[in-house]
Parts: sequence; structure tokens; C-alpha cells
Amino acid sequence: MLIRSYLTQIHQKGRKEFGVGKRSTSLYSFLFLLLSALAYYVSARFGMSLFTLFPSNISLLWLPSGIGFLMCLHWGWKAVPLIIIAAYYANLPGMDISTVTNPKLHTLVSALADGAESFIAMLLFSNYLPKGVINAKSLSKFIWWVCIIPPVITAIIITSNLWVGGYLASHQLEMFFISILLANSLGMLMVYQVYNSLKLDPIQFKKPSINLCLSIALVGLIFVLGTWRYPAIIYLILPVLVIMSFELRLLTVASISTLAFIGLISATHFNLGPFVSLTDQATAFELMAFTFACAITVFGLALQQYQMRLAKESGERWKLAAEHDVLTGLPNRRAFMPALTKEHHRSVRLGHNYCVIIWDIDDFKRINDSYGHDFGDRVLVRLAQIMRISCRDIDYYARIGGEEFAVLLPETDRESGEKAMERFRQEVADETFAAPDGTIHSVTISIGLASLDARVVDESELLAEADKALYQSKAQGKNQTNSYEH
Ligand code: GH3
Ligand code: MG
Ligand code: MG
Repeated sequence: MLIRSYLTQIHQKGRKEFGVGKRSTSLYSFLFLLLSALAYYVSARFGMSLFTLFPSNISLLWLPSGIGFLMCLHWGWKAVPLIIIAAYYANLPGMDISTVTNPKLHTLVSALADGAESFIAMLLFSNYLPKGVINAKSLSKFIWWVCIIPPVITAIIITSNLWVGGYLASHQLEMFFISILLANSLGMLMVYQVYNSLKLDPIQFKKPSINLCLSIALVGLIFVLGTWRYPAIIYLILPVLVIMSFELRLLTVASISTLAFIGLISATHFNLGPFVSLTDQATAFELMAFTFACAITVFGLALQQYQMRLAKESGERWKLAAEHDVLTGLPNRRAFMPALTKEHHRSVRLGHNYCVIIWDIDDFKRINDSYGHDFGDRVLVRLAQIMRISCRDIDYYARIGGEEFAVLLPETDRESGEKAMERFRQEVADETFAAPDGTIHSVTISIGLASLDARVVDESELLAEADKALYQSKAQGKNQTNSYEH
């Protein structure tokens, strides 16, 4: 009882932190469990029929190990009976042979070992990787606790079981043990890789990128050339997958690499490709070693790239947040200054003119004091919208202070700038605002403009000139526009 509650606790911890969702006892969940058991059975039959290189019930790729592991991750110990039943019926056709005295018992023992593997893998995973495999560093833990320890236990039980049952002769034991271990490990790795990418980095259905099309075409070409005439070409699959892992999303890499490895194993089954050796044993070893090494390499690199992408995206989000004002959504002074510098250099280089405008709300303190800060905020947001609508696409506008805004007008002479400035003033003056007490108000702004006019000044001097012109507008009674006269 105590052990059971401890196991449930570990499983819950893994589910919660890994985000597997609430334990559901609904019919829907049960049907999904049955469907998973069916997938387990089908993939087991598929593995047996397609990937078996030599008799005695061994497959080169045992995808059910990964499916069983995911089933336990979702449904805990409740998935185990179904895994055992699916494994039993999947194994029976291969194991129910007349030379063995009690084939059903041995089939059952093998099925129990398969169930145990999934359950142990889930327990170890929940305990040692509660957040799942999120980066290349956690991959080594995954390989050890999920791809090695549980398959080793299962391989020991199944090999002994088949030896005791008379399925295997003593000289076959070592090879059988290693093969079953690698097949189960590969199954864990491949199935989990796809599932993990689906969770971490769901695919977004967009137009297929050129990189995706190119990768699929290259993988296809390698397969055709490698299996048709030049077996050694197959080795190029690794560099192609590695490059793919730099360019494509996690799920795309996981799916393409898993399909490529399944294709590789299938091709070898049909005696194609570079891994076909004199003996089935040698073939199995070479193929599995290559596939396992490639699968881990590609998975690790894809995770590394994923982490780097996340870091870059988060850096970009921070930059965006740091350069924008939360209230109005406009760029702030931090973003405005580099934009001004850039435009200044561009205009000087090309000998073009540009203007810079600064405007400030008149008596805004009084507005805030009379109608509240929230009303003041609404005014700011509305004025920012007016500015957005009023500016041309090439203009750059920003909130550079509390109630102070700036507009950069590229390719604009003084006269056009003055017209724009007057238009701003008029548009703001025409706008009305309903105060909390129901009264209708309008606000006014004062504006100052400075123009480059082919002078040798730097951009901060120009900004200071616009500020002086603004001050003059205030001094002249507000709701005015002024250009700096040099
Ligand atoms: P002037 O016509 O001379 O510009 O007078 P003013 O009252 O507009 O100028 P002053 O610089 O004295 O006051 C600016 C006010 O702007 C003070 C501050 O409370 C207000 N303010 C600054 N940022 C915000 C904001 O984000 N929201 C609101 N509601 N008010 C702000
Ligand atoms: Mg003001
Ligand atoms: Mg002010």
C-alpha cells in the first residue's frame, strides 16, 4: 500500500511538472488508452514483420517500448495491464512454436517484462527528469534512466526467459541480449523524441519553407542513391540531419529523422544499403550502432538549437519591451534616439533634408488633477492613436517623455514639416474627450520643429532646437506651432 502510494506520488509529480495534464477517468481517456494499446500492438507486429533480421523473435527497432513508456506517463500503472495484453498477443505468433514445452508461459513472462520496462521507465523519468527533456544536457539523463536502465532489466529477463524456454542456444545469448537492448532503447528514443517535440515546440502549419523541402528532397535522394547503387552514400544521412537540426523546428527534425531511421532499418531488412554484412548478427550490430549514434546526435543538436532559439526569442521580446511604452504602445526615447541618429546620417550622406518635431500637452497637470490620472492616461492613448494615423509610413514617432512626443519626418523640407506640425495641432484640438463627470473637454498641444537645412549640426543639437521651438510655443500662449530659426 505504502509502495503504491509512493509510486503514484512520483508519477503525479512527473505528470504535474511535465505538464501531462489532469488525471482523467473519463470515457474519452479510457478510449484513448485502448487506442494507445492498439498502437502498441500494431507497432509490435510491424516491428516483428518488418525489422526482424534473424529468427527467434527479435526486432531491430522496438517502437512499442516508447509507446508503452508514454502510456505509463499518461495513465500510470493503469496502462500496465493493457501493455502486457498487447505485448502478449504481439509476441505469441513468434513464440508459440511446437518445440517449446510451455510457450504461453514464456510469452507471458516476456510480456510482463515489457510491461515492467514501460512502468520502470516512467518511474525513473518522473523522478529524475520531472521537467522532461528540455535541453541537450537533460538528454544524457534520459538516455541513462530511460533508454538504458529499463531496457537492460527487460533484456535480462527476456533473454533468460527465452534461454530457459529453449528458444535460444547459449551461444546466441550475448547477441540476443545486445540486440533486444538496442532495439528497445531505439524505440524509447525515437517515440519519445517525436512526442517531446510535439509538446515543446508544436508544429505551426505554414507554407513549407525552402529548408524543409530541401531537407526532405536530400534525405530522399540519399535513400534512393544509397539503396540503389552507392550504399556508402547512406552515411551522408547524418550530416544532412545535423544541418537540418540547425535550420528546422524540433518536431520537423524529430519526424524526419525518425522516418529516415525507420527507412534505413527497413532498407537493411530488404538487403539494401551499406549495413548488409555476411551474417545477420554483424548486420544488426552495424546498423543499430549507426542508427542509435545518429539518433542521439541529431536529438541532442536539435535540442541545443531549440534552446538557442528560445534564448534569442526571449532576448528579442526583452528588447521590444525595453523600447516600447506600455501605455501607448509607441516606441520610447530609447528607441527614438538610434532611429534619429540613423536618419540623420542617412540624410547627411544623401544631402537630403529631414525635420524633427517635439510636442507636449498643454496644462496636462491640471487635466490630471481635475479629472484623475486614468482620464489623463486615456488622453495620452488617444493622442498616440491620432499621431499614428496622422503620420506617413516613413515617419518615426515616439513617446519620449511623460506627455512629450517626438516625430521624425524623413525626406521633408521645413515648409512641409510646418504643414505637418500644424495638421497635428489642429487634429488634436478637434478631438473631444468625455471626463468621468460627463463633461466634454478638448486638449491642446504645443509643438516645436527643427529642420536640418543642409547645416553642420548633429542630431542631438537638432532635437534641442525643436525643444527650444516648443518652449517658444508654450511662451506664446500654448496651442501653437513654431519652427526653430537659425
Ligand atoms: P505645460 O502646458 O507647461 O506643459 O504644463 P503641464 O502641466 O502639461 O506640464 P508639467 O510638466 O508641469 O506636467 C506634466 C504632467 O504630465 C505631470 C504628470 O502628472 C503628467 N504625466 C506624465 N506622465 C503621465 C502618464 O503616463 N499618465 C498621466 N495620466 N499623466 C502623466
Ligand atoms: Mg505639458
Ligand atoms: Mg512636459
